[in-house]
Amino acid sequence: MPLLCKECNGRRFPIAFPEERDALWLCEKCKNFVNIKDEFIREWTEKEIEENRLKLENFNNDVTADKTPEIKRRSGVN
Ligand SMILES: [Zn+2]
Repeated sequence: MPLLCKECNGRRFPIAFPEERDALWLCEKCKNFVNIKDEFIREWTEKEIEENRLKLENFNNDVTADKTPEIKRRSGVN
């Protein structure tokens, strides 16, 4: 599995797309996707980057809005 990026040696993350049979693997540093065979598929689009940024922002807002002081562990999140 293409867990590591060949270009930057960074960690890739599997992203599921409804229109794709298999998940595509994203390198956030190189901003591109490869398939399960580590073949280049396409760039990470500006729109997707923006959506991802918003998602992270919402997640962070949720955490800071939480009144309990203990830090919640993100279980199962890569
Ligand atoms: Zn990379």
